[in-house]
Amino acid sequence: MTVQTVRRAAEREALAMPAVVVSTTRLTDHMVRIRLYADDVEKFDYAGPDQLVRLFVPPRPDAELHLPISARWWPEVCAMPESIRPIVRNYTVRSVDVAAGELDIDFVLHGDDGPASAWARRAVPGDKIGILFDGARFDPPPTTRRMLLVGDETALPAISAALEQLDASIEVLALLEVEDAGAELELAHPPGADIRWLHRAPAGAARGALVLAELRAARLEPRHCYAWVAGESSLATSVRRHLVNERGFGKEQVYFCGYWRQH
Ligand SMILES: Cc1cc2nc3c(=O)[nH]c(=O)nc-3n(C[C@H](O)[C@H](O)[C@H](O)COP(=O)(O)OP(=O)(O)OC[C@H]3O[C@@H](n4cnc5c(N)ncnc54)[C@H](O)[C@@H]3O)c2cc1C
Repeated sequence: MTVQTVRRAAEREALAMPAVVVSTTRLTDHMVRIRLYADDVEKFDYAGPDQLVRLFVPPRPDAELHLPISARWWPEVCAMPESIRPIVRNYTVRSVDVAAGELDIDFVLHGDDGPASAWARRAVPGDKIGILFDGARFDPPPTTRRMLLVGDETALPAISAALEQLDASIEVLALLEVEDAGAELELAHPPGADIRWLHRAPAGAARGALVLAELRAARLEPRHCYAWVAGESSLATSVRRHLVNERGFGKEQVYFCGYWRQH
């Protein structure tokens, strides 16, 4: 795929659909890939490497899954009694096989205080969850010649998919901040892509500090460069601030998103 072929999802109404766990595969100590099957995946229109999927997680491990039935799903979820209300979280479609009705989601296992992380850690084939596809944001202009991809573990699914889909004409720098070498993934990428893994441990670097330091030292030509930045909120905002305020990137050249917030 060239960057020109990346597009946003059609503005069609999105509805929640039930899905069932087909298999689970440990990718690293702190990441699990869960393959889901859903009847309606055949209607799914893949929009790009950061394709968003909203997950509806049962409120308790033994609870029945109640899904909203209309396109105005959020007010519907909010109106449900707390005892049956699903927990809604955002994830990325790592890959999809429309013909088989299957999709993969890669979950960071960050502990059982997060309902989605806890669900993923316990998931076994046959478990039920709700999914709703909700477009993509990765949208480089057709003139893009360079790409900067920056993120932490939660952004790895989107960055891995982007690297797989980009062609060799795009010059790529990827800065991937993870806990340690055990959190690294095998990545397929265009030849010549500059992929740098940065480890927070053992020094216990603050979230985003390493990517920012690496970025400050990197040669970076903003012309025809598209930056995609996601991960912990302070990582995303500090990188975006650096690119726009100190490196001369136009705001429209930088997509950034706080995927989660450290409390
Ligand atoms: C567009 C989008 C796409 C995303 N795609 C993915 C994806 O593909 N894979 C993925 O794993 N995540 C992804 N995320 C991030 C994910 O939505 C959050 O990590 C979410 O908070 C997890 O929900 P939870 O129920 O496990 O934890 P929550 O109930 O939200 O949080 C519980 C506690 O855990 C902490 N916490 C939350 N996430 C993390 C983390 N990753 N590491 C350490 N501590 C954490 C919080 O600060 C809080 O204290 C995405 C987010 C967005 C917005």
